[in-house]
Amino acid sequence: MQVLAVASEIFPLIKTGGLADVTGALPAALAPHGIIVRTLVPGYPKVLEALANRRTVAQIDDLFGAPAALLSGKAAGLELFVLDAPELFARPGGPYADPSGHDYGDNWRRFAALGWVGARLARGEFKGYRADLLHAHDWQAGLAPAYLAYGPAHAVKSVMTVHNLAFQGQFGAEIFGQLGFPADAFSVDGLEYYGGVGYLKAGLKLADAVTTVSPSYALEIRDGEFGMGLDGLLRTRTDTLHGILNGIDVEAWDPGTDPALVQTYRAGTVHLRAVNKAALRERFGLEDDDSPLFGVISRLTWQKGMDLLLPAIGELVGMGAQLVVLGSGDPGIEGGMHHAASAHRGRVGVQIGYDEALSHLIQGGADALLVPSRFEPCGLTQLYALRYGCVPVVARVGGLADTVIDANEAAMQAGVATGVQFHPVTQATLTDAIRRAIQLYRRPKAWKKLQRKGMKTDVSWAQSGLRYADLFRHLTGLEGRDDD
Ligand code: ADP
Repeated sequence: MQVLAVASEIFPLIKTGGLADVTGALPAALAPHGIIVRTLVPGYPKVLEALANRRTVAQIDDLFGAPAALLSGKAAGLELFVLDAPELFARPGGPYADPSGHDYGDNWRRFAALGWVGARLARGEFKGYRADLLHAHDWQAGLAPAYLAYGPAHAVKSVMTVHNLAFQGQFGAEIFGQLGFPADAFSVDGLEYYGGVGYLKAGLKLADAVTTVSPSYALEIRDGEFGMGLDGLLRTRTDTLHGILNGIDVEAWDPGTDPALVQTYRAGTVHLRAVNKAALRERFGLEDDDSPLFGVISRLTWQKGMDLLLPAIGELVGMGAQLVVLGSGDPGIEGGMHHAASAHRGRVGVQIGYDEALSHLIQGGADALLVPSRFEPCGLTQLYALRYGCVPVVARVGGLADTVIDANEAAMQAGVATGVQFHPVTQATLTDAIRRAIQLYRRPKAWKKLQRKGMKTDVSWAQSGLRYADLFRHLTGLEGRDDD
């Protein structure tokens, strides 16, 4: 089966969050099931630089007013189609915003172009390729299922995967006339969304199936609090809405071989993590004593609960713990983190920015990872933490609820606990969870049990790859279900 994935990020070429990890990992996860995934991505400079074996599939003279070429090639072991349109994608800032953080004014055009080309490529309108199914990721690819739905009947099946409902790609009604849809597509059954044009809404409405990245989030988004305006639409899709957990790349994230660690280790040698903890402390100028070290690797935003963590830092330090924070985001929260580091020298270390290698060292050296998200579609950092014996302390929402087992008495007795959960998500419950984690840390046997159980948890793509494969087979009717 040939699947065309359409996405604006793919690890390791272009990444702002978990979306990239997933699109980067799915092709390998689906290959064992006989599903060949090729991914269409925008021609960002970094993608074009990395592209080898490049071939021009098609020249498009006027792609929403810009000249473009559709290329195929390989990069980082991934089979790619790249939409090389310098006017749209060769820009100095990030994938969605300029260097000062303002969204590009023509994002509607950039990602309409991506969806339009995706639909045509999948349908076989460019020579040499045709897909059985199109897999659209997030709002940037949301128009691809819509272009398929308003194109020739029964062309190609489509799946819309939403990695985070908070990012919806909503634009003013005035762009509709430039998208090339029939007039009746501007309706509640098509692209229209609260009087404007909704890219994610269109995909959620018009794809043959919808998935999101955890079973709990699939339930939560049908509800007013987490549905962000789309809950009504999602309730109508209940029969075709699936929650499939993300896995992680267990080769790139392997504490037994990770080159970013000062000391590698396995479940049986988890005491060796102390070497990485010492390295982390040295790097952040933290005191060397018997205190537990908490880590944070996160976008510094409201969603991630980072504004709740800020006022809890004093209490964390007061309880005798230490904290290292790696992240970037909201300038107010970044400033607050800097302030906390200078107010608690030797106890709190902060690095603002994106640093892949340091994120590995924190997973391999901190004792516990704090993830106090207000909502979390799946979350990847707690999965890395499980694999690295860095005990996750998480809000009980979305994928965090589905992947961490709270260390309550019953779970401890049964030997199934892997971390600490708290709910509702407030500063008080977060502080309480930190206190519980510290108490557990002071019981070395119980702590080691938590670490080892976490390290043995299956966080690979094996199960989830099978679930995507089943869904794709069911939709295309190409093969029977896999019963293994
Ligand atoms: P989201 O996609 O909502 O940001 P996820 O937990 O799903 O959250 O994925 C975040 C990904 O980005 C993880 O791979 C995490 O390790 C990584 N990450 C987040 N912030 C940083 C940072 N400052 N430096 C390095 N990696 C980061």
